Amino acid sequence: MVRSLPRAVLHIQLTNMQFKYFQQPDRFALWLAAAAKCSFCEAVKTCLDGAAFLGTDRFNAICPECLLSVKLLEQDSYACEGDIEALKHQLQLRKPEKSAKAVSNKAGEITDLLERTTPPIFKHQNWYWPCAGGDYCSFLGYGSKGLYEFLSPDGDGEKLFTTSLYHTVEDLSDVDELWEDDMPDEPIDSLVAAKAKETLFYVFRPQQGQQVITVWDRR
Ligand SMILES: [Zn+2]
Repeated sequence: MVRSLPRAVLHIQLTNMQFKYFQQPDRFALWLAAAAKCSFCEAVKTCLDGAAFLGTDRFNAICPECLLSVKLLEQDSYACEGDIEALKHQLQLRKPEKSAKAVSNKAGEITDLLERTTPPIFKHQNWYWPCAGGDYCSFLGYGSKGLYEFLSPDGDGEKLFTTSLYHTVEDLSDVDELWEDDMPDEPIDSLVAAKAKETLFYVFRPQQGQQVITVWDRR
């Protein structure tokens, strides 16, 4: 049976992944509505909204080029918070011979890259960005039944969703209820659509492999 692809999924496949940890920045990152002066390079262009970043060093706008060139590295300014304790654990498992100090340093470097080169995403709560296999996952988009069905190798979206819950939300989740009551049927293909939802599912993929990881929260 040939299933038609949800539009949001097609977009994932077509987007040229510019940000390692964020696959559809044009669609889901928190951009300023109009061209603005980048607080770092001073060019007037499409910029991410400085107000969406966390930390004590405040700025109005940052262009994607400045974000990618790690302009925030020395700043107390970051778009998200990585699950660094889980990352250390994964790195140590992969390289048991490394000292805890070396593992901690490596985890810190990877976490800086995630937090300071990734555009901010719209979310209801602050939660830790998931990691798998010794690196942080890439945000694909907001979950819907259509998206899970498409991503599932056998088309069973509910089964995929059930097995995709990240450890931080696993214990809080009544998966049947979430799937029946909160999971949208249709793909969420815009920030406006995401903002309208009380409950949001954030769908990630590891840097390697076909696993799917979900974090969810409520307004
Ligand atoms: Zn700039």
